[in-house]
Amino acid sequence: MNVAKNVHELIGNTPLVEINSFPLPDGVRLFAKLEFMNPGGSVKDRLGQYLLRQAFREGKLEKGGTVIEPTAGNTGIGLAIAAIRYGVRAIFVVPEKFSVEKQTLMRALGAEVINTPTELGMEGAIAKTGELLKEIPGSYCPGQFQNASNPETYYESLGPELVEGLDGKIDVFVAGAGSGGTFTGTSKYLKDRLGNVKCVIVEPEGSILNGGPSHSHKTEGIGMDFLPPFIDRGLFDAIHTISDEEAFSRLREAARNEGLLVGSSSGAALAASLKEAAIARPGMNIVTIFPDSSERYISSGIYEEVIKHEEENAVNSWRS
Ligand code: PMP
Repeated sequence: MNVAKNVHELIGNTPLVEINSFPLPDGVRLFAKLEFMNPGGSVKDRLGQYLLRQAFREGKLEKGGTVIEPTAGNTGIGLAIAAIRYGVRAIFVVPEKFSVEKQTLMRALGAEVINTPTELGMEGAIAKTGELLKEIPGSYCPGQFQNASNPETYYESLGPELVEGLDGKIDVFVAGAGSGGTFTGTSKYLKDRLGNVKCVIVEPEGSILNGGPSHSHKTEGIGMDFLPPFIDRGLFDAIHTISDEEAFSRLREAARNEGLLVGSSSGAALAASLKEAAIARPGMNIVTIFPDSSERYISSGIYEEVIKHEEENAVNSWRS
């Protein structure tokens, strides 16, 4: 029988697909790793498993204990799945404004979600986490933005999978950064293993990597307003700052032309990959990461312009 023993075994080893419908220079190929194919629907399932495995190994958490993390999204879902495996209670502290779908999924996985006021931002969620850690015995906060296990997760899983999937033929690696764990761990692995790989980090406008002012953006899951301690600028061979408009128009093209239902951070990664393709030499392979799917952003209007456009067309064709 070819059957997984449990859902946890199905995390990682996601498929790689070639992107075909966008015009690329002759001999340049573009591939995407479909991280939305993980059981919890994102690249952060890998992190949830790794953080709890490390916490158990290091004796920071025991069966029956409680994991508490301030998180706006996918990391919470990944940790909630891992909490089932390790038999711990999970509490996530989430500012009210964040994606309803993600909070619902955390609850569905048995986690408790505590909302903090939107005006207090992530700082408010972090402060509340501190209070809970004091109140609840046997509790532990992995702290994805500070924890070196975050990039290690990707050094040990995503990096090797990319090398294996592409037979080591990777010239350019493109990934968005929220905490920067995915980019940092994977880029480090690719450079250690393959040497000459151009590693390109992607951020939305309003993120600070390019030195611009910090402001809000619609692209979800990527963008930094401070630099986590594990960020190594030596790994950045290029930085692409992608506007919300470009990220959203690319994700809509990905749906319509490729049949890929991806979120806005994937749209930004695709936009940056196409810019890299335009300057690549024949024979080069570019690979990027699609971290999650569009389905968890339907209520925040990810396809709204598509719907508006369809409605306008319907009205116009009715008139003519
Ligand atoms: N895209 C999405 C949708 C995410 O949720 C995240 C994690 N915040 C990322 C990209 C970026 O991952 P990382 O934190 O590893 O930089």
